Amino acid sequence: MIIDCHGHYTTAPGELQAFRDAQVAALKDPARTPGTGPVISDDQIRESLEGAQLKLQRERGTDLTIFSPRASAMAHHVGSEATSLAWTRVCNDLIHRVVRLYPDNFVGVCQLPQSPGVPAANSAAELERCVRDLGFIGCNLNPDPSGGHWNAPPLTDRHWYPLYEKLVELDVPAMVHVSASCNPNFHATGAHYINADTTAFMQFIQSDLFRDFPTLRFIIPHGGGAVPYHWGRYRGLAQDMKRPPLAELVMRNVYFDTCVYHQAGIDLLARVIPVDNILFGSEMVGAVRGIDPTTGHYYDDTKRYIDALSMGAADKQKILAGNARRVFPRLDQLLKARGR
Ligand SMILES: [Zn+2]
Repeated sequence: MIIDCHGHYTTAPGELQAFRDAQVAALKDPARTPGTGPVISDDQIRESLEGAQLKLQRERGTDLTIFSPRASAMAHHVGSEATSLAWTRVCNDLIHRVVRLYPDNFVGVCQLPQSPGVPAANSAAELERCVRDLGFIGCNLNPDPSGGHWNAPPLTDRHWYPLYEKLVELDVPAMVHVSASCNPNFHATGAHYINADTTAFMQFIQSDLFRDFPTLRFIIPHGGGAVPYHWGRYRGLAQDMKRPPLAELVMRNVYFDTCVYHQAGIDLLARVIPVDNILFGSEMVGAVRGIDPTTGHYYDDTKRYIDALSMGAADKQKILAGNARRVFPRLDQLLKARGR
């Protein structure tokens, strides 16, 4: 079986965005306050997925996508904490409906109701609701709820600890995932995302976070940002800072996905990063939607790059499914209960 650890509901029916637009408009004009949520039928949900994610799963030969709300639309910087909570619940509930309609194709990961300047602890209740009540298996954690201004404490600060305690208690991992950029210096998917991935890894090196939380697990998406390419720099920095080797310091807790959209990048990832720390992901339908004219295939058809890796079948299977089942134990339990 093949598990894609990184997919967002980028094709949600237009009613979802209309709800959000009304919610944002209501910040200035309370008369425009929308109802509790968008009205979307099951058929609309089916239609939004059949020609997109489900079609691509079939074409590419993948089975199950770990599915979360559209990351760039989380936009934690918009409005107040109440705005973020209302939007987050609507988005998570919609993912839950997708999973109920297609339990063999999707499993849920939640958005968190983060908001700039608000304690991270305040996101714990929604995380718990999603995991315990909706059967979700993880969350996306935004290290920069400001949307590109980076005024939250580093991920290793005690600010985040109450949320980490909840992650550990529920035994679910977090994907470090920023949202839209409202800083014009940083293109969202081309710069802000990759910066955040790289930044998170360096923060982990500088801290004893994983001594405090030995079972806390993070997935750093987009191939780990710049980290694998600069692996020697990070090893060397840790050494200069008299930190333990990376294998001990971070690599029991940190995983990278394969959302790197060319073969040479995946070859490097697989050569540099231990195979136990790599999870297959494509982020389809997502950041890059076109076809690479040099290969004739979609850039985000990352399974092709894994297939082409010179690596044994057992190791490939770890990347394609085994590691995901280990990092997301609730997924493993769910699959075992279904005899998979
Ligand atoms: Zn993503």
